[in-house]
Amino acid sequence: MGSYPPQQGRLSGKNALITGAAGGIGLETAVLFAREGANVLLADISGPALEKGLAKLKEAVPSANKLASTICDVSKESDVAAAVEQLDAWGGVDVMFNNAGIMHNDDSDAVETPERIWDLTMAINVKGVWFGSKHAVQSLRKHGKKKGSIINVASVVALVGSATPQLAYTASKGAVLAMTRELAIVHAREGFRFNALCPAPLNTPLLQDFLGDDKAKRHRREIHFPTGRFGEAIEQAQAVLFLASDESSFVNGTDFVVDGGMTKAYVTPE
Ligand code: NAD
Repeated sequence: MGSYPPQQGRLSGKNALITGAAGGIGLETAVLFAREGANVLLADISGPALEKGLAKLKEAVPSANKLASTICDVSKESDVAAAVEQLDAWGGVDVMFNNAGIMHNDDSDAVETPERIWDLTMAINVKGVWFGSKHAVQSLRKHGKKKGSIINVASVVALVGSATPQLAYTASKGAVLAMTRELAIVHAREGFRFNALCPAPLNTPLLQDFLGDDKAKRHRREIHFPTGRFGEAIEQAQAVLFLASDESSFVNGTDFVVDGGMTKAYVTPE
């Protein structure tokens, strides 16, 4: 877990639902949200990971308001609907962080990617974000909210091409970016903001499990960072906190890139 700045109540009184919340960016964001006064519902497909995540969250923020967890596969609409409904008892959703996503080991180039992997990736990474957005909008309306913030996780691979292919993942993140932009415009007059977060490769299990001890594979990616390092989950969580809070009230429809300058680099320092 990261180290945290002083608490300022930036999400005081808000209810937040985070998908893929048991680890990585999701859990770091949950800690920041709770520290800033939000009630937080953690949703994840993995029950055991959720249990550990909730325990870590409670330990990190003992004074937090309401904290709970729920098992939810974001590719199943009934699961997402049920998770969002749990927030009815708290007064409905204010912040929805559609963070759950997978990058499958068998995802490859146009020739090698199995169709099964393509469909699975799209079901979680794209349909999951659609379901999360849909049910957040319905909850915001149901509870008569005049503002809401939905943050959808895309990736830098939605912006720049990569010679280390994961075609289904890349296509899915491009879809998240385009979908988020349209949602932002459609719902702007209702006060519901939609922004897409574009993280660069990070020190989280999603990428690190994939790289393992393979130094060459790792170097192939690290070399593209002007900073010479991967990002940390907490550095994404800080951006999500900003997008969730009212401080970003005029930020809507953005591709919010948190990448240490990676997508702006041509030749990086040695
Ligand atoms: P992570 O693997 O650490 O965490 C992802 C969480 O999502 C896990 O707890 C997992 O159990 C959960 N999950 C998987 N499938 C799910 C499903 N169907 N329903 C609900 N939960 C599910 O990953 P992370 O690095 O924290 O990634 C979070 C998001 O950031 C993902 O959308 C990922 O694509 C994106 N992202 C990550 C990186 C990176 O390098 N780590 C870079 C760019 C974008």
